[in-house]
Amino acid sequence: CGIVGYVGHRQAYPYLIEGLRKLEYRGYDSAGIALHSQQQLLISKTAGKVAALEELTKTIDLSAKTGIGHTRWATHGVPSDHNAHPHRSQNGKLALVHNGIIENYATIKEELLKKGYTFKSDTDSEVLLNFIEDIKTNNACTLEEAIRIALKRITGAYVILVLDEDSPNTIIAARKGSPLVIGIGNGEHFLGSDASPMLGHTKEVVYINDYELAIIKPDELILKNLGNDIVTPFVQKLDMEL
Ligand code: GLU
Repeated sequence: CGIVGYVGHRQAYPYLIEGLRKLEYRGYDSAGIALHSQQQLLISKTAGKVAALEELTKTIDLSAKTGIGHTRWATHGVPSDHNAHPHRSQNGKLALVHNGIIENYATIKEELLKKGYTFKSDTDSEVLLNFIEDIKTNNACTLEEAIRIALKRITGAYVILVLDEDSPNTIIAARKGSPLVIGIGNGEHFLGSDASPMLGHTKEVVYINDYELAIIKPDELILKNLGNDIVTPFVQKLDMEL
């Protein structure tokens, strides 16, 4: 029920973990993170609290400067380690976190099962991820393009963050109906379901609108609509006490 993300010049992990803690008030049953570490995606996730996730990440390489995090409020599939986010796509290349519900996931899952896809979770979210992977493979297109095509075919509410093993220092984000805020730092960007995780890091934020897709790199924030037109980010000042 909460998402966070970081791309920049510092270690991603501290922001992700602190951010998930600040979003704990939203309620959740599982927590997880994915780090883009030296051409590899490392995923740690577990049913339970952020403290359990911290325990789990004690033994992994935390040097990555790009990462995404999630707290889950189960809607499709019981609270469990397998159903916790981030999910990894079938070919292992993509990782996704999702808040919300994909209403027509059953139809899409059916199509993917016929194509030989298998699923490691019972979530609607993993279906969306493999749908994106399938489109990317079949159309030999960019991840951004594949996400755009996929989102035009789904109904429901979502905020998604996606990492691609082949694209370091990049997060692709999109939303419809679930909140997403991007904080602008100096050579870094902070993502959150609300602005609370970025307090103390930056006062400049962009609230992403429905049907917008963001390509986020340390020094660059590109915003587009699902028609692939560039949208100018509306930067607002946080007026909360830092
Ligand atoms: N529908 C997804 C699931 O059940 C995401 C739930 C959420 O918003 O945390 O895993």
